Amino acid sequence: MTIDGDIARFDVIVVGAGFSGLYALHHLRELGLRVRVLEKAHTVGGTWLVNRYPGARCDIESIEYSYSFSEEIQQEWVWTETMSAQPEIEAYLNFVADRLDLRRDIDFETTVVAMSYSDEAAEWTVRTEDGATVAAPFVVAATGILSVPLEPSIPGMDRFTGTSLHTGRWPDGVVDLSGKRVGVVGTGSTGVQLIPVVAREAEHLTVFQRSPAYTLPWRVRTFEPGELDELKASYPQIRAAQREHPVGAARLSAFSVLLEMLAKPPLKTASAEERTKAVETDGIMGALNWGDLFFDIEANQMAAELYGQAVARIVDDPATARALTPSHPFACKRPIIDQGYYETFNRDNVTLVDLRADPIESVCPNGIQTAAGLHELDVIIYATGFDAMTGALNSIDVRGRGGASLREFWTEEGPLSYLGLAVAGFPNLFTIQGPGSPSAAANFVAAMEQNVEWIGACVSYLREHGFRTIEALPEAQQEWVDQATALVAATVLVHPSCSSWYNGGNVPGKKRMYMGYTAGIPEYRRRCDEIADAGYAGFKLA
Ligand code: FAD
Ligand code: NAP
Repeated sequence: MTIDGDIARFDVIVVGAGFSGLYALHHLRELGLRVRVLEKAHTVGGTWLVNRYPGARCDIESIEYSYSFSEEIQQEWVWTETMSAQPEIEAYLNFVADRLDLRRDIDFETTVVAMSYSDEAAEWTVRTEDGATVAAPFVVAATGILSVPLEPSIPGMDRFTGTSLHTGRWPDGVVDLSGKRVGVVGTGSTGVQLIPVVAREAEHLTVFQRSPAYTLPWRVRTFEPGELDELKASYPQIRAAQREHPVGAARLSAFSVLLEMLAKPPLKTASAEERTKAVETDGIMGALNWGDLFFDIEANQMAAELYGQAVARIVDDPATARALTPSHPFACKRPIIDQGYYETFNRDNVTLVDLRADPIESVCPNGIQTAAGLHELDVIIYATGFDAMTGALNSIDVRGRGGASLREFWTEEGPLSYLGLAVAGFPNLFTIQGPGSPSAAANFVAAMEQNVEWIGACVSYLREHGFRTIEALPEAQQEWVDQATALVAATVLVHPSCSSWYNGGNVPGKKRMYMGYTAGIPEYRRRCDEIADAGYAGFKLA
């Protein structure tokens, strides 16, 4: 790469070196392409480098939430737990980068700030923060679906004199919370993982909760001696089952549990005795294990009530249990699993502040002021989520055909995309698991591998057939968006009270639209293959 001089040229520029960028580099390099990866962090890992908060771990079994493309890697790497914690996933991605000698083609500490497409040259010019430029006919945006942390805008945040942390930017090294009064704002997947761990370490923990979580109690465990070896011996069957599974994970996960719920009898017609028995026997699972919750908002509200009863069986203080009972529909946010979340609220050193009844007024130099009073704190941890799906690309000034801005297009029209892989008006730009892809409700790694392989085959096809450009057609894009929207039209996912990163509702001012594709990865793969086999139907090749 050169600064202000001759521009270095590659066949493909990949932005990002997380799970997606690393595989894109390896796969495209194997196809004989000259690939350069630009990564803003100092090393590989993406999500698993920056979300270093206590308790961070994946919620899909690691033998499935891992690369399937290399038999050597899956045999050599040793997972120690069923669902690995962040340090082990970070170490795994470093192992992969070294094993495949990927680092030689990655520029670290290189933030892409702009990229523009030249119609004449059929080429993207990519500009980085330090003023350097590189160019390539193709760009793969592997910039992450959850890589832009969302800061809340609470008055006075910058006046806090203690330590302020965001879980999505957790500092390297030990953050010592012992003897500290800690506040956690946010109770999504991150808060639910973080809270039990912080409670064990801090002198006092105050949880500031706006929307209570629905979370399934889960047991994560270390492997028994020999257990992983047995699993490794069955990898052909494990990967084959994953490939056929709608969520890309055939073993037990929150997603597979949700799918199984769809086949259960409806709650609406269950007798009062049946409902009570379900909660008495199966607790939280019993409250939610009904087939009509996804489609019938009334059934969903009934389940919320049962859920409250199940929580009250765990949480000693009735007022705290009531405050922990959600009022939004179950399933309209990503499913959460936990280890000892509700039990945490029985600890003497934990206080729950229900922001629905007692909202935050401001952050003060010494704590958080709610309507009811001041909570004095030494540390505030914001577990407030991400500007998902579009946030990372919107942080780059992406200019497509005729100088059109992707940020403006997505802001004004909504996050439209064809297959989650391409946007009309932005030729030769591939987005990994962009809006309209299965990633939101699936094993990301499984979904991503399909995207990378499809992109590789597409670039090879273009080169073999003498095409220089591929561009999504607006009508095909709209049709895809309409199909993805129709898939969720009859579900609670589009109920007005559903607000989450799935539909942009968590970001003030963001245009709301469900950003996933819920027909499952196998059907998505079938559609992508069909489109490729038809000479890239819905795309213009030139
Ligand atoms: P990322 O890992 O986000 O990597 C994107 C990379 O692009 C980053 O390294 C970033 O620095 C870089 N980048 C972005 N913008 C620029 C720029 N302008 N210039 C240069 N570099 C840039 N999914 C699951 O399926 N199962 C799970 O259990 C699961 N757990 C998760 C837990 C947490 C805490 C979070 C936040 C997400 C989780 N996810 C999970 C989703 C997760 O993001 C994906 O599974 C996966 O790690 C994404 O990989 P990626 O490479 O696509 O993106
Ligand atoms: P999130 O699900 O968006 O949750 C953010 C939380 O912060 C919500 O409780 C939200 O409340 C709250 N919040 C936001 N702004 C606030 C404000 N101004 N005041 C008070 N509360 C505020 O984000 P996340 O928990 O980081 O999870 C994001 C995604 O990352 C997950 O859905 C999942 O895909 C992934 N993830 C996965 C795991 C895992 O188990 N493997 C772990 C962590 C993250 P409202 O709901 O009221 O907006």
